[in-house]
Amino acid sequence: MSLTQPGQGAKNRVLIVGAGMGGLAAAIALAARGLEVEVFERAIAPGGKMRQVRVGEAPLDAGPTVFTMRWVFEELLADAGLSLPERLTLRQVDTLARHAWTDGSRLDLFADRTRSAEAIGAFAGAAEGRRYLEFCAEARGIYETLEGPFIRGHRPSPVGLVQRVGPGGLGDLWRIKPFATLWGVLSKRFRDPRLRQLFGRYATYAGSSPFLAPATLMLIAHVEQEGVWLVEGGMHRLAQVLAEAAQDLGARLHFGTPVAEILVEGRRTRGVRLESGDLVTAQTVVFNGDVAALTDGLLGDRTRRAVPPTDPGSRSLSAIIWNLVAETQGFPLLRHTVFFSRDYEAEFDAIFRGGRPPEEPTVYVCAQDRDDLGNWPPGEPERLLCLINAPARGDTKPLHADEVERCAERTFSLLNRCGLQVRQDPERSQVTTPTGFAELFPATGGALYGQASHGWKASFSRPGSRSAIPGLYLAGGSTHPGAGVPMAAISGRLAASSVLADLAST
Ligand SMILES: Cc1cc2nc3c(=O)[nH]c(=O)nc-3n(C[C@H](O)[C@H](O)[C@H](O)COP(=O)(O)OP(=O)(O)OC[C@H]3O[C@@H](n4cnc5c(N)ncnc54)[C@H](O)[C@@H]3O)c2cc1C
Repeated sequence: MSLTQPGQGAKNRVLIVGAGMGGLAAAIALAARGLEVEVFERAIAPGGKMRQVRVGEAPLDAGPTVFTMRWVFEELLADAGLSLPERLTLRQVDTLARHAWTDGSRLDLFADRTRSAEAIGAFAGAAEGRRYLEFCAEARGIYETLEGPFIRGHRPSPVGLVQRVGPGGLGDLWRIKPFATLWGVLSKRFRDPRLRQLFGRYATYAGSSPFLAPATLMLIAHVEQEGVWLVEGGMHRLAQVLAEAAQDLGARLHFGTPVAEILVEGRRTRGVRLESGDLVTAQTVVFNGDVAALTDGLLGDRTRRAVPPTDPGSRSLSAIIWNLVAETQGFPLLRHTVFFSRDYEAEFDAIFRGGRPPEEPTVYVCAQDRDDLGNWPPGEPERLLCLINAPARGDTKPLHADEVERCAERTFSLLNRCGLQVRQDPERSQVTTPTGFAELFPATGGALYGQASHGWKASFSRPGSRSAIPGLYLAGGSTHPGAGVPMAAISGRLAASSVLADLAST
């Protein structure tokens, strides 16, 4: 990296720290407008949390596995004059996921709501099937109220949101149920506790507890019903495609290049100092790491005031994940299968109140070689990601090896009780704990979704794309509109639009 002197085109140069979804989306949107874009990423590959690991010879996704809101990426590339379908092969699934309980019961949910309602009717009685359809209508209403004014838009204040929602105003906002908990609403809606558990789990997509998150999060159920796609080549392929698109538009991506400091002179940003010691100057910097890294001073003392301080007590969920190549038997896995614990409340109580992994965890298994029909030759080793929720205390209260071992025993014995045997080979197994995530994503303690969405105010407390330091912008899952692959990408586009608006006005 050569030293870049101030004044050499620094005005039209944008430096992006991090090549996660938010950073890559910002890079595409800015490079497409002719800006000189440099992306610095400490990892050796793009994607951030959308990373890939190698277990033996096999590449495995070790981050997100459920791809939704495809339109976000279609729009991102189309606005840059590129085509998503030309670069990435996606196939929509018919079966969203299989769900299993220790009593042997199983339920599949489908992209077709009527089919899901029939399955729920057979599983828990016709009345529950009807209530499911009412739930879908309610979730759709919430999503439609919030898509334009909140999800796609710059971060509003509560009052701003009322104005943006338009003529329906407060009435519409009341319907998004900000003051009731998701669990409270589901308890009124469904008689069968298994259905409460199943739909309550959507809170974890935002790293939150269904017992503390607002019922507004039921919109995630709607997002999933609108479409889940399988990405050919695995989820990490999406990160590679976005990185290639940014490069095709002229952005320069530097991997294995950590940024040690965001330079602030006078009141505004002047560039970055790389860990190598090199300085790169620019008037505009977009930070794609977790905003807690700024307030903790990891990018220098001057950027501590970029956003209000974050409270480690309100961190979202972390996880323990096992990436395995293993033989399975006894249970018909699909691409996405969820195995539920017997006591959901105890699980979230242990994590959020006790700060410890649950005694009996709910386990998500992504069988990466299978599709939504589950086809796979019996007895053949297959690539698996097994995930349980865990507290984000990887920095202050790391789990000892024997605790991780105990979590593994509990995880795989829960799978056993649901009928799935996983024959593991220690040579072909890799575990990532909250401490591992904390090392990969500094200042998070392993939290994977920024701050938890607990209480109605939480969604308004995520910072927007402009920081308090002129020239420093924010993108990523810890900023508005929130975590998840498409949301983080939207935040990148919002950061790019703020940069462009501010450059145009100077
Ligand atoms: C196990 C797991 C499962 C998940 N499942 C799903 C799912 O199924 N569906 C879904 O939609 N979402 C899921 N998510 C969430 C989703 O992956 C994230 O919300 C999203 O990818 C975050 O993107 P981001 O823009 O915040 O960037 P991040 O992924 O957080 O990346 C930020 C990047 O910045 C880099 N960086 C930070 N500091 C510096 C520095 N100083 N110098 C250089 N580089 C730096 C980091 O190395 C990193 O690459 C999951 C996440 C995990 C971990």
